[in-house]
Amino acid sequence: MAGMTVEGPSIDSTRPSIARVYDYLLGGKDNYAVDREVGDVFFRDLPGSVAIAFANRAALTRAITQIVTTTDVRQFIDLGSGLPTADNVHQVAQRHAPESRIVYVDNDPQVLVHGCALLEQNDRTRVVRADVRDPDGVRAHPDTLELIDFDRPVAVVLSAVLHHVNDEEDPAGIVRHWRDHVPSGSHFFVSHFRSGDNPETAEAERVLQQTFGRGRWRTDEEIASLLDGLEILDPGIVPAPLWRPDPVGSNPWSADGAQRELSVWQHLIVAGLARKA
Ligand code: SAM
Repeated sequence: MAGMTVEGPSIDSTRPSIARVYDYLLGGKDNYAVDREVGDVFFRDLPGSVAIAFANRAALTRAITQIVTTTDVRQFIDLGSGLPTADNVHQVAQRHAPESRIVYVDNDPQVLVHGCALLEQNDRTRVVRADVRDPDGVRAHPDTLELIDFDRPVAVVLSAVLHHVNDEEDPAGIVRHWRDHVPSGSHFFVSHFRSGDNPETAEAERVLQQTFGRGRWRTDEEIASLLDGLEILDPGIVPAPLWRPDPVGSNPWSADGAQRELSVWQHLIVAGLARKA
């Protein structure tokens, strides 16, 4: 089937998965009762927390639009891509530049299954089941090599995934690997849970750690250091709703750019775009 590589173990519907809980929080249908149980903890005990997921998706969409409309980059590696919901990277990029090529990478088998239908007719997009903690393996995967020309600038998308990589698994090393293996002009989009000195952060971190053994809220300094050696573009690493907001729409800025107040939760996810000089 075009656009699809399926390998590895089958879906386990008895244990929650990060990808499926996230899908549930975003209103998707690709989840099981075990995932909804975890999602309901957020809905019930941490009201408003789902704003993190929506703010993140919106910033990702804006970043892909910016990359494809303001640079020559036409190839994307989306690491920890998640379950395709609306406005996936390939849909956004190919809307503006149909020649764009996208490799989605995720270690959740459900992501592959779901991508199957979505990508059936798209020969410029692949879904690779791999672990982002093994960047060598991702880069050398036949589907990656088929679509991505590493002699040309690439956009490496790390949207809401590095906070699922624990400190001892070296999240900075993942970014460094890609930085060292892509040419000048390549871009890096990162979004990440941001720690705040508040009970919400502590509780959300506790739920994720208890359920998945991962989920790390990092400080602004820690997040910036993940992008060491890259030029962080304006406006820097900022709360996701404030990252190059659309002039109109459901973001905390009105049409004339006047800032409204963000919720606690909207402060707890940051986004940034960086460039390899
Ligand atoms: N990038 C999407 C977005 O921003 O909307 C999805 C983010 S979702 C919160 C995190 C995704 O990362 C999940 O689909 C999960 O399966 C994936 N993920 C987490 N750890 C991973 C790993 N070590 N290797 C590959 N994928 C991983």
